[in-house]
Amino acid sequence: MLDYARVGPPSDRSSATINGSLRGETLKRALLPLLSILLSILLGTQCTQHPPKDAPYRNAKLPVEERVADLLGRMTPRERAGMLSGAGWMESQPNARLGIPAIKMADGPMGVRNWAGSSAVTGAAATPPVLSTAFPAGVGMGASWDVELVRREGRVIGQEVKALGRDMILAPTVNINRQPLWGRNFEGYGEDPYLTARMGVAFIQGVQSEKVIPSVKHFAANNQEFERHRIDEKVDARTLHEIYLPAFQAAVQEAGVWAVMNAYNKVNGLWCSENPYLLTETLRKRWGFQGFVITDWGSTYSTAAAVAAGVNLEMPGGEAMRTWFAKPETQKDGNGAGWLTADKVLAAVAAGQLKQEAVDDAARRILRVMFTTGLFDSAHTGGGEVDTPEQRAVARTAATESIVLLKNAGGLLPLGAPKIRSVAVTGPSAAVARTGGGGSALVRPKYSVTALDGIKEAAGAQVRVSYALGAAMPGEDASAETPQARAELRKQAVELARKSDAAIVVAGYSSKLESESFDRPSMDLPAGQDELIEAVASANPNTIVVIVAGAPVTMTKWIGRVPAVVEAWYGGQEAGHAIGDILFGAQNPSGKLPVTFPNQWSDSPAYAHYPGENLHVAYEEGIYVGYRGFDQRKVAPLFPFGHGLSYARFDYSGLKITPAKVAAGNQIEVTARVRNSGARAGAEVVQLYVHDVKSSVDRPIKELKGFRRVTLNPGEARDVRFTLDKSALSFYSAAKDEWVAEPGAFEVWLGASSRDIRLKGTFELTQ
Ligand code: BGC
Repeated sequence: MLDYARVGPPSDRSSATINGSLRGETLKRALLPLLSILLSILLGTQCTQHPPKDAPYRNAKLPVEERVADLLGRMTPRERAGMLSGAGWMESQPNARLGIPAIKMADGPMGVRNWAGSSAVTGAAATPPVLSTAFPAGVGMGASWDVELVRREGRVIGQEVKALGRDMILAPTVNINRQPLWGRNFEGYGEDPYLTARMGVAFIQGVQSEKVIPSVKHFAANNQEFERHRIDEKVDARTLHEIYLPAFQAAVQEAGVWAVMNAYNKVNGLWCSENPYLLTETLRKRWGFQGFVITDWGSTYSTAAAVAAGVNLEMPGGEAMRTWFAKPETQKDGNGAGWLTADKVLAAVAAGQLKQEAVDDAARRILRVMFTTGLFDSAHTGGGEVDTPEQRAVARTAATESIVLLKNAGGLLPLGAPKIRSVAVTGPSAAVARTGGGGSALVRPKYSVTALDGIKEAAGAQVRVSYALGAAMPGEDASAETPQARAELRKQAVELARKSDAAIVVAGYSSKLESESFDRPSMDLPAGQDELIEAVASANPNTIVVIVAGAPVTMTKWIGRVPAVVEAWYGGQEAGHAIGDILFGAQNPSGKLPVTFPNQWSDSPAYAHYPGENLHVAYEEGIYVGYRGFDQRKVAPLFPFGHGLSYARFDYSGLKITPAKVAAGNQIEVTARVRNSGARAGAEVVQLYVHDVKSSVDRPIKELKGFRRVTLNPGEARDVRFTLDKSALSFYSAAKDEWVAEPGAFEVWLGASSRDIRLKGTFELTQ
């Protein structure tokens, strides 16, 4: 957390001198202008000099705010203005005279994105890539429902950031997966604001525990790539506060996040980089944010409006920005850049369009974070190790816990002798490790384990594993995409499947087909994959489909014909091991869906309200996003939010809610007993949903307000406990502009998924 104990304006050293040396109002008035000219000459000279070694801001023992005030007081207006723009693609402006280091950044959130050189464009082909640990996609981390795991992930990512000599990671992504076609669904933690908030907070705490600066992004409501730079989203205040903002609010108020990145899009008519409702009213005033706001790369369109609203650091900057912005495609995409250069900021102040305090505030916020993280006192010099055994172990646990067993008819899984002695492995994602979705989040690891290798390893000597491609991933090999080539590839896979006891089809998307910058054209599997699954399923009744993707895919063509389906997301570098371990039972699946899987795209609550027209999109489904919308419209999902099977069995009993009547402001305790009545150890995610029995406004039928992940041996039982407070009972009242918990009856539903509710109980909220 920042040291806020001594928050205040920088000391005004000139007025202190004046007050100490003069007496008498008249004399003061007459001499003041003269003195101030003299002082500014004096200070001007001072400003060209290096401050003494013992200047207070250099003293690590002093409180952060004192150091900030001292340093700000020594900066010229140009130096202050200079803090508001980057120096390159991934660095803020250093200041040699004052010894202010640059903040060196790296992309995330699925690990430290490869980059090289001090300000290299991330992922630029010309620079040798820096290889780091690739963790599962955010949606997979969301599927683990394991807050401690995400905290550990944040911590080891923070360690890698430092080891590579960087100071800041542009992560986590906490945007809500509003609809299944969004190209960046894989980055977020799913469709639910409560789950997303828990995960985001844990990630930030992990990163910050290493004194590395996270940047929670993209603020706010960045839920489609289609026209992401120009789209104007109409979102009502209640929907913003109940669905799209809670994870950011928790990042600020619970994790004390040091930086927030604004989104590209507009919200209610204004770009997020100049949106006073978001940046001033909500982030600063309502939530009390004390860190700095960094722009998404190329998301600024004004100087005074952006700084006044609350943008503090524009990225990218310097020559890198100018070269990039000069490219026709950059401007065609709708990027805006170069608005917060020192020249433009100073001009806006001189023209009276922008207050000096706003500029000082921006500089102060950046410096505050820099002092808090110790960047002045001990630079992250790099040279440390990445991809250490501990980091790998976290990646493997994460990959394993992210996997969701969607269907397992007849208990086909786990595979193994004596029932299964041979498996045919096929599909475009079997022999290629697809560690992540595409764009700024894609990490290049030192190694990665393919599903095929993981399956071979897990199968052991008793099970024969054979492989055929079956279908090529579109765009990867044109010669394999002709109708004849497709038929031939399919035939080879079918032949193998026919000769084997079981068949595994590893299907899904790739980082070229699911990525930042564009949305998926549909929810269907890429060309040729449905046909492959259908053909293999016809040849072998023991067909298992493993999906590698960041969002739901249409399964209607074959879901009734395959006994087992596993959702593996993009699992990072250890995905193959995790897939093998789950399929052959070395690990028990425990993931639960953080997003609803619709039967078809048209079932999604956002279907009729996407992608908008004439650069406008209205979020007309309102708060009814994901399961809230499926519940409200009584649409059956293919697999509901929270769903995930295990090789164990969990029984729920003994729900207790105390007290039965609770006055507003007091807490409600909920306990229940979970027992593993299966034959294997396993983990269950117990989900708590709140149902408001009667309300003056429309409310979702249920909302997730708690969850617990418990690991139990066979026969073992444990109590799970939850504490509910006002926030679990409230809705956002647009009329009152605040959260409201209305007196009356509430139900608590405990379940193994949002549609597998095992226990129900009631309590009453009194006045
Ligand atoms: C993305 C951000 C990313 C930034 C820097 C933008 O295009 O939206 O998430 O951090 O680039 O690479």
